[in-house]
Formats: sequence, C-alpha cells, structure tokens
Amino acid sequence: MTSATIRPASDYPPGGDAFRHRHLTGIAQLTPWEISYILDAAEQWVELNRAGAAKHDDALRGLTIINAFFENSTRTLLSFEIAGKRLGADVVNMHAAQSSVKKGETLIDTAMTLNAMRADAIVIRHQSSGAVQLIADKVDCPVLNAGDGRHEHPTQALLDALTIRRRLGRVEGLTIAICGDVLHSRVARSNILALTLLGNEVRVVAPPTLIPPAMERMHVRVFTDMDAGLDGADVVMMLRLQNERMDGAYLPSPREYHALYGLTPQRLAKAKPDAIVMHPGPMNRGVEIDSNVADDPARSTITEQVEMGVAVRMACLDILTRRTRKVPGWN
Ligand code: ASP
Repeated sequence: MTSATIRPASDYPPGGDAFRHRHLTGIAQLTPWEISYILDAAEQWVELNRAGAAKHDDALRGLTIINAFFENSTRTLLSFEIAGKRLGADVVNMHAAQSSVKKGETLIDTAMTLNAMRADAIVIRHQSSGAVQLIADKVDCPVLNAGDGRHEHPTQALLDALTIRRRLGRVEGLTIAICGDVLHSRVARSNILALTLLGNEVRVVAPPTLIPPAMERMHVRVFTDMDAGLDGADVVMMLRLQNERMDGAYLPSPREYHALYGLTPQRLAKAKPDAIVMHPGPMNRGVEIDSNVADDPARSTITEQVEMGVAVRMACLDILTRRTRKVPGWN
C-alpha cells in the first residue's frame, strides 16, 4: 500500500514533509495530498491577485527565475512571468527562437549554460517528451515543467483542479469528460493523472484515431460517441485539435469533426444541468467548441482557468524554492 492510499487528500503532513520533491516535472510523481497542498496554497494567491492595486508579495525577493521556452506559448509563459514577479523575483524569459538551440546546441549544453547562470528556479517548455526531466537531472535548482511534448503539463492540471474545486465545491467524486485530441495532449495526460488520483470518474471522449493506446491502464472510460460520453457529466473539458503534432491525416475535415465532436449547446444538454465547460486554450472556435458555449459565463470557466493559472504557478514557485530560501521547517 502506498502513502497515497493511506493518507486522504485533505490531510497532508506538517512543514516540508508536505511536499518532498525538488522539481515539478509531472503529476505522475505526486500523491493526492501533495496536489491538495498546492491547491490550498494557491488559494491565498487568488486572494492577493484580486486585492486591487497591491498584488505583491516579497517571498521570492532576490531570486532569479528563468523561463526557458523552447516552444511557443502565450498564456503559460505570461502566467509564469506574472507569478514570479508577483512574488518579488527577478524573472528572465528565454525564447528558443533567439537562443543557441537554433545554432545546434544540445539540450545538455543548454542545461549546463542555464545552470551556470545560477538561477533559483527554471521553468521549461520543450517540444520533446522527457526533455524537462533531462534538464532537471543536470541542474542545481528546482525545475518546473511548463509542458513537454505529449507527456505532461502539470501546472495546467493543477489549475484545472483548482478551478473545478472552486466552481463545484469539490474535486472528488465527480464525472469528468475530457473530449477531443487526447492522443496529442499533455493537458489530457496530466489531467487524467490528477483527476483519477483525486477520486473522480474520468472519461475520454474522442474519435478512435485520437485515443492513445492502453487508456484502460490510466483508469479512464473511453467513449467514441460524444453524446454518450457527456451523459451525466459534471465537467466537460474540451481540447484543441493539435494539428502541429499530427504527422498525417487523423480526421476527414474540421467540419466533420465539429459535426461529431464539437461542443454545441445541444450536446452540452446531455451533461448535468449545472455542468461546467473547460478549455486550456488556445481555442479553435467553431471546431471543438462553439462560441455560445465558450462565452456563457454560467457554464464556461475558461477565463477563471487563466486566473487560477497565475495563483497555482505562484504556489508552485513558492513551495519549490522554500528549501533554498531556508524557510523554517523546510530542510
Ligand atoms: N496550451 C496547452 C498546451 O500547451 C494546450 C494547447 O496547446 O492546446 O499544451
């Protein structure tokens, strides 16, 4: 029996024992109570971020955070940058387009260069699954995964869990349908891991060509019929068709995809009457989701997810730097 099965999610150990990891490379490493610990820590930052003009804390004053993004990003990069700055850190962004990677530098050499700059935390997005772990193994400071290939996007799953918990009052015992391009989605993978770990029924709803193999090993129910997959769901999480990761034709056409798997008001009616609609962004309106669903404030949590993203990333940066900041109880 693992510690995850004997300790309920709401009951985490005191001090530094609440989160023993040096890095945040994936949800796969976490226990339910470690996830809850981050979500609870994030709540205080939601309050701070809503506190009018004084959105600032100096917990990370004097620390340098490098955001090393080898793949494009709008909201995740901005969110990590705002999170670091709101905690008082110096934040530097490195875009791959301007970096030596384009000149042929290996990932390990890039890691050693970043390490020599003596950053206090490095946030990495990379197009290859496993690249973030490779860098984490080589550097002296905490590393946070901001998305690696099709593998994981842990802060997205954490912000999604926080959004669900705030909207529905809990993030356990729910039926959650994750719909769309699951095959190419690190968001889906991290969410499946987090939401099953927290004790929810997770369904995957997609055309057969966009369902990864061996899904049953991830303890999800697979549906190829959207109406059946949404039936009685508390949460409908839509995913973008990740065309940039497709190396062939997975679908006849976006129009046909929308006809069978697009979230319309009629289709949403299959879910519970108060079901919420989520999307990690960027959205393809009219493909996986209709505007009148995406823009319905009673159902859609899309802007709230962005807001929770800043708070969750503040919590992760704060928690992961506590040992180097020598916060009492964290050694
Ligand atoms: N922004 C998310 C990601 O980085 C989802 C997406 O790109 O569709 O994986």
